[in-house]
Amino acid sequence: MTVDNPLENQPYVTQYSKKMNNKIKCLVCRHGCILADGKMGICNTREVINGELVSYNYGNVSSISLNPIEKKPLYHFHPGSYATTIGSWSCNFSCPWCQNYSLTKVGPKKYDEKHFLSPENLVDIISQNSKSSGVSFSFNEPTLMVEYAIDVLKSLSKANPKLYSGFVTNGYMSEEVLKDLINNGLSSMTVSLKGGKENMKMNCNANSDYVFENIALAFEKDIHLEIVILVIPTISDSDEYFNKVSQKIVKNFSPDIPLHFNAYYPAHKFHLPRTDISVLEKARIIAMKNGLNYVYIGNILGHQALNTYCPNCQEIVIARSQSRFIDSKMNEKNECPKCSYKISIIN
Ligand code: SF4
Ligand code: SF4
Repeated sequence: MTVDNPLENQPYVTQYSKKMNNKIKCLVCRHGCILADGKMGICNTREVINGELVSYNYGNVSSISLNPIEKKPLYHFHPGSYATTIGSWSCNFSCPWCQNYSLTKVGPKKYDEKHFLSPENLVDIISQNSKSSGVSFSFNEPTLMVEYAIDVLKSLSKANPKLYSGFVTNGYMSEEVLKDLINNGLSSMTVSLKGGKENMKMNCNANSDYVFENIALAFEKDIHLEIVILVIPTISDSDEYFNKVSQKIVKNFSPDIPLHFNAYYPAHKFHLPRTDISVLEKARIIAMKNGLNYVYIGNILGHQALNTYCPNCQEIVIARSQSRFIDSKMNEKNECPKCSYKISIIN
């Protein structure tokens, strides 16, 4: 079989692979699947065909739309702007509560020309839309379309270096993949955490240490980071967990990293009732007591903790409603109008 990269109508041969005797190791994410000919990886997007590891997700677009950046959620990154948001198919985690299961629990449709969007065409769409300030890879796990994302980042920086980019991710990519994304201009990451070590192993088939390693690397490389915890009953709703995560962020990274506690709703195979607001509010109090400056409550319409408050005087500096930007009261230096405290925001 002759395979060129990239192809509209055939599988894409990934560079993230290593031959191991008669098998191929995938180097895209921390699972590191070692696959024989004809076998598909855990994520259901990569298969060994005639001794080559191919991806079915290159340019294989499941969904594209223009979204407020606050929906990612990114509250401290270009507030009030819109990102062209794109997703592909499937996920490398097996979370039974997945809220996007219609995209993540199905593999890509192989060789489906209808879904193909080239990186150049995507960048044209972004550049020609005056409302779009950049691209966000989201909806499913974006690591699974990393080769495409890197080509998009390359085209984006050529078209207009002011356009931003983001990954809304479970943070399980390999170190090599994360470094390549960063070196090609990735500007932000929203990383979602899925409960403590045991829960992550049992429910997501994943090791939380790797996620924190990637957060550390992104932090060191100055990528704008926001962290999300979906507060799931019995999985990620204990005081111990809230304390552990918030202390870890303050100690190892920065008190200025925004932390979002999002309400869970029953979805896919998980049927416990939605998160009680009192649990989210308790989580927020714990995280702030541990020193985090910007802690939010998400997925609850009209909650006061959608707003950004000045950590020094508690004045509202950015007002939001339903995860949408309403108004900023800061001056051009991002200072609080009341006490002039400098708010940590990228404009
Ligand atoms: S991306 Fe991850 S889950 Fe998928 S084949 Fe590669 S190593 Fe396995
Ligand atoms: S990591 Fe996110 S997208 Fe993937 S299965 Fe879990 S909740 Fe769904």
